[in-house]
Amino acid sequence: MNHFNLHTHTDFCDGTARPEEYIAEALRAGFHTLGFSSHSPLPFQNAFSLRNERFAEYLSSLKALHDKYKGKIRVLTSMEFDYIPGISDDFNRYALPGRMHYTIGGVHLVKSPQNRDLWFIDGPKQEKYDQGLKEIFNGDIRKAVRCYFAQVKEMVLTQKPGIIAHFDKIKMHNKARFFGEHEPWYRDLVWETLQAVSAAGSVIEVNTRGLYKNRCDTFYPSAEILEQALHLKIPVTVSSDAHAPGELNGFVKEAYTLLSDIGFREVACYDEQGRIMLPINE
Ligand SMILES: [Zn+2]
Ligand SMILES: [Zn+2]
Repeated sequence: MNHFNLHTHTDFCDGTARPEEYIAEALRAGFHTLGFSSHSPLPFQNAFSLRNERFAEYLSSLKALHDKYKGKIRVLTSMEFDYIPGISDDFNRYALPGRMHYTIGGVHLVKSPQNRDLWFIDGPKQEKYDQGLKEIFNGDIRKAVRCYFAQVKEMVLTQKPGIIAHFDKIKMHNKARFFGEHEPWYRDLVWETLQAVSAAGSVIEVNTRGLYKNRCDTFYPSAEILEQALHLKIPVTVSSDAHAPGELNGFVKEAYTLLSDIGFREVACYDEQGRIMLPINE
């Protein structure tokens, strides 16, 4: 098991503690690297993202922590960028070279071409997912899921994020009610999107949050998708998507076991110069 995490939320966005509290926990757990990834600022009121006014402070405080802990733990700066066509900013508005060590891209809000409202597929409430599906997509799950993967694919091709966050988050509130992950139409969408990831050269994270939050009984993405990623030679990393220091290692050991069982031998991590590959230590 490798000791690092690249997907971490603090009180700069919807996390529960200050960056240094995560660093203290990471040091206790023997991490060599800890990357912070606040939710990117969005051009509308919301409860989860970093506010634009705090962006400069976000960068400077993480830089100060990087320097303070040099030699003890590698503190990296990133951001989890939301991609919403026509609404979110270009990732490069915030991630200009030299400002961030890597970028994470993810879809939490799905846009229908026919509706101005956005479908929020994350968060603890299944009712909210069901309501959005009904009101924004007229209950048409295939159309809704197609829009989700089209958005992920467009993000991958236009923004080329370093890491793709929770690739199949769309399944979280589904709970096998509206679609099955083995249905051909769903598998086709997954396959097409994976090919875009492969072409862009991005890393797919194995996100453990659904498991330790008890919201999902599999990782994002599911094992079948990871098998396809291996086939396409897409690099993977393991992220806890921690929103509290105690979550940094949640189900991480299990994720490494799964990757190893599937046949992966290494995982992607980052240092100050860019992406590095590390062997999976069993
Ligand atoms: Zn996310
Ligand atoms: Zn996250």
